[in-house]
Amino acid sequence: MFRTIFAKQFTLYLSVLLLSFSILGAVLSQVLRLYLIEQRVESLKGTASNVADELILFLEFGESEVQQIINQYESFQYLESSAIVLDSDMAIFVSSESLELELDMVFDHIEFQRLRDGVPDVIMDGLPDIFPERHLIVGYPIRDRDSDELMAFALLISPVEHLENTIWGMYRNIVICLFIAALIGFILNYFISRTMSKPLRSMSQVAKQISGGDFEKRVVAKGRDEVGQLARSLNNMAESLNKQERDRREFIGNISHDLRTPLTSIRGFIKAIKDGAAPANKISRYLGIVLDETERLTKLADDIVDISQIQARESSLRKTVFDLNQLVRETARLFETRIIKKQLKIRLSFADGQNMVNADSEKIQRVIYNLLDNAIKFTHEDGAIVVETLVKEGRVWVTVSDNGIGISPEDQKQIFDRFYKADPSRGLDKMGNGLGLSIVKEFVRMHGSTIKLVSAVGKGSAFTFDLEAVRHLSPPKK
Ligand code: ADP
Repeated sequence: MFRTIFAKQFTLYLSVLLLSFSILGAVLSQVLRLYLIEQRVESLKGTASNVADELILFLEFGESEVQQIINQYESFQYLESSAIVLDSDMAIFVSSESLELELDMVFDHIEFQRLRDGVPDVIMDGLPDIFPERHLIVGYPIRDRDSDELMAFALLISPVEHLENTIWGMYRNIVICLFIAALIGFILNYFISRTMSKPLRSMSQVAKQISGGDFEKRVVAKGRDEVGQLARSLNNMAESLNKQERDRREFIGNISHDLRTPLTSIRGFIKAIKDGAAPANKISRYLGIVLDETERLTKLADDIVDISQIQARESSLRKTVFDLNQLVRETARLFETRIIKKQLKIRLSFADGQNMVNADSEKIQRVIYNLLDNAIKFTHEDGAIVVETLVKEGRVWVTVSDNGIGISPEDQKQIFDRFYKADPSRGLDKMGNGLGLSIVKEFVRMHGSTIKLVSAVGKGSAFTFDLEAVRHLSPPKK
């Protein structure tokens, strides 16, 4: 029943309309009824008092005189009422002819008690047997002017049917207004909900297409309201899904390429050795190349594991307190052979004997490893590499610098992107896959820091990041 926005909106509108009109009708009719009856009572009371005043003079002249006054009164008709004059025993003395009452009637009913006691009174719907329609009776006592003795009573009987008619008329007008308001509401709601649901319908269609893998689809996002915002969010989501999909394809493409190259060369050399095609004096060199290529594959596998963890956001930090200097020393030692082979000078310069930090040691080792790996790769023979720590404002700052080939300002903007290699043709980096710095950047970011780079082409590069320092720690027992 409430499946569409229109149905929901219109039902709500109609309920509010019905409720407010019912309350309005009930209150208005009550107020109007009271007001009309009060007015009628007031004018009847005034007339009754006048008639009573007049009757005092004519009572003693007998019935016909009194009847004349009553007829005269009735002929005015502006109050649409009839009159009865009762004698002091509450029996009919004279009555309007239009009432057609039997003359021997006595008004000794309980509702006339107050009047019998001499108090002017208003009786609503009294004597239903005689006056079946709704009416008002205003009774007024007539007293002798000298002795103040009760001589007679004047009763004015006025039907209130027309008052009810006025109220019913008001009800009718309210119902007509209700219908008009409902009709206008129906038309307005129809158009408003159509303008609201149209973009929603198109969004749901686009969302279906996106979930089906068509990330190029976009919604027309107009307006600043919630629907417009939703449309823009949906477009942003589609954009980011599209980018993720592009990245994923590019990633797989790059990886396949990086896997195929070493595998082809391993296969070629092994085949040559197996078939006996390789000269005996070159076998050792060939095996050396095969070993390099397997190292390259191992590094690629490690990088892929890191990247996929970062992508899946599974990679959480396992922080411990450790000596960063020790970690730097151990990591540098892994490069000993390469450093000696390239005749590089390496200097480790630490702020203190121990620099304790609170960090994920495995990830920080990967960061330092990748930075040192690059520094060694991109520094010519006889070059120098420095790893330096510095303590400032509760953080330990680590800088890995070299006096190698340096990085141009344009490349500096991109080297932290996945698979980006500044200039593969330079030949210094045959092993690289362009993933190292993107892993460095992400691992450093996870530690609440950013990696900074200062570099000049031909002069060298310096990469810096910082970690939370831990102070006042007693040195470990030896
Ligand atoms: P890779 O894993 O192939 O080394 P990286 O992401 O670590 O990839 O590095 C990306 C590129 O940044 C490298 O190909 C290189 O061009 C440049 N680069 C990184 N470190 C240095 C450095 N110390 N000196 C000069 N160029 C560097």
